[in-house]
Amino acid sequence: MQTGQVVLRIGFYTLAAWGLMWSLLAVGDMSPRGGRGGQAPRHAEAQSASVRVDGFRFGHREGGGIRFVMELSQAVPWRVFAIGSPYRVVIDLPIVEWDSGGLIDGLGFVANARYGRFSQDRSRIVLDLSQAALPEATFTLPRDGGGRRLVVDLAPVAESAFPEKLETLFESEEGFAKTKRRADAPPLPLLRPALGARGKWVVVIDAGHGGVDVGAISATKKYEKNLVLSYAKDLRNALNATGEFDAVLTRNDDRFIPLRERISIAEALGGDIFLSLHADANPSRKVRGASVYTLSEKASDKEATALAARENRSDILAGIDLTEHTGLVSQILIDLSQRDAINASQDYANLLVTDLRESKVRTLQRAKRSAGFAVLKSPNMPSVLVEIGHISNADEEKYLNSKEGRKEVINVLVSSLRQFFRARTEE
Ligand SMILES: [Zn+2]
Repeated sequence: MQTGQVVLRIGFYTLAAWGLMWSLLAVGDMSPRGGRGGQAPRHAEAQSASVRVDGFRFGHREGGGIRFVMELSQAVPWRVFAIGSPYRVVIDLPIVEWDSGGLIDGLGFVANARYGRFSQDRSRIVLDLSQAALPEATFTLPRDGGGRRLVVDLAPVAESAFPEKLETLFESEEGFAKTKRRADAPPLPLLRPALGARGKWVVVIDAGHGGVDVGAISATKKYEKNLVLSYAKDLRNALNATGEFDAVLTRNDDRFIPLRERISIAEALGGDIFLSLHADANPSRKVRGASVYTLSEKASDKEATALAARENRSDILAGIDLTEHTGLVSQILIDLSQRDAINASQDYANLLVTDLRESKVRTLQRAKRSAGFAVLKSPNMPSVLVEIGHISNADEEKYLNSKEGRKEVINVLVSSLRQFFRARTEE
C-alpha cells in the first residue's frame, strides 16, 4: 500500500485503509490474525494499556512540508525531539496500546516511521528522514467522537540548522518527564531463575532487536525480532532441560534494549557465554543459510562488515543519541582484556559451524565470519552472534518456522554448547 496516496483528511476510507494496514502489520505471533472491525490488532501484552492508537498517516503540506498525524483514544503527554547522524525525529509517549511494533512507509522526505515500545514506561515513534527536516509545530486537536489527534508539522531545514545533540523541540503542556509510570506497567522480566543454580554453566541468550527495532523483514513481511525471541525461549527451555545449564534471556518480551545494555545484563547475570540470536535478510531472495560471527577489529570480509553495520544500527533505529557514546558504531577498539574472550568465542564459533554443517541446517558457504559487532564486546565472556538463516528467502523462512527446522537448529545449539563446556571442564 502506498502511504503517499493517503490523503490528509479524516474519513471512513482513510481509517479503513489504516485498519487494513494495521492488520497486515499484525506480527504478535506467527499465525495470521485478522483485524477486528478495521481496528489495530492488539498485542496480548498491551491489552491492559488504556491509551489506544487508532492509526498514523502522512500528508503533504503547502510549501514542501510533511504532516504526521496520530490518532489517539485520549489525551496523553508527549515529547518531540530530533537527533542527527542520521536525521531522525522522535515522538515519545507513555505506554500506548498498539500491535507489537513495526514499520510503515513514510512520505516525501520521511523515509519511514518505526513504532513500538521503547522502555518500561515509554512508547516511541521514530521518523527516519532522508534529509534534514524539523518539526515547525506540534499540537493536539480534539477528534470527532472523542480522543485526541497529535499533529507534527515537519519542514526541510538547512543541514546546519539541525541540532547537533539530542534536543527536545516540543512538549505537551503538562510536561513529559513529570508523567508518572503507569501503575499497571508490566514488570521487568525475571531474568535470573531461582537461586541455587550454581555449578551450571550460565548461558545468556540474547534475542536480537525488539520493540521499536523490528530487525530484518521476512519474505512474508514478518519481523526478525519475533522469530528470534521465540527461538531464544525454546533454546532456554532446551538448555535448562539438560540440567547442565542455567540459561537466561536478555529480553523475554517485545521490548527494545540498547546494545550496550545487553552486554551489561549478560555481565550482571554472570554469563559464561553470550549468544545473540538473529535472522538475516538479503536483497537477493535466493541467498539462504545460517552463519556465525565473532568480534574482530578487522572484518573477515565485506559481507560481514555490512552485516555488523546493519546489526549495530539497532540503537539508531530506536532513536538513541549516539553522540553520547561515540565509538559504539563507528569504531570497535579491542583491548587486551578481550583477547581471552575472543579466543574462546572463536573456539565456540568453530564448534558450532562444524555441528551446523553436520546437521540438516543449511549454512552459508563461508559460515564463520567476524566483524565489529557492538553487542559482542564483553571482555568477560565468549560472545557469538548467530544468524539462524535468511528470512528473506521464502523456503528458509518456512523452514525456520517449521517444527523440524526449529528442532534441528535448537538441537545443534544445545549440543555445541555441551561440547564447548565439557571441553573446558576437562582442561
Ligand atoms: Zn538482527
